[in-house]
Amino acid sequence: MDISERILETACAEAERTGGRVVTLSVSVGSLSGCHIPSLKTWLEELSRGTAAEGCTVDLLAAEPLARCLGCSRVFAPERDRPACSCGSTVFSLISGQEACLDSFVLEYPDADGPPLGFGPADPDSPGYNVLPADG
Ligand SMILES: [Zn+2]
Repeated sequence: MDISERILETACAEAERTGGRVVTLSVSVGSLSGCHIPSLKTWLEELSRGTAAEGCTVDLLAAEPLARCLGCSRVFAPERDRPACSCGSTVFSLISGQEACLDSFVLEYPDADGPPLGFGPADPDSPGYNVLPADG
């Protein structure tokens, strides 16, 4: 289960670097990833014991696969039985849906006055995490 370790590590590294703790982990799980969502949630909760993410809320979101057509560059959701772009092309590359990945996470700082900080990729293609306003 190295996916969940990677997810946890990313969030905990940021929490430890900044002296905060993880309160929410949002993970999207591609429907082609083969991950069993309830097991992944339990596993993440187990793994988080003793880390900066202990006791955090784990939000898992099932994500439909997305593909980019190599004919017209359109991004579409391929159907399982007959995957094809609306332009008629059946040549495409899958861009998501095959893995579970950390979508965003929320950090809390016990000594800070402000609301918890949310982190998430501003650009889905960028591997980095940027500070976003946390909702709620
Ligand atoms: Zn197309």
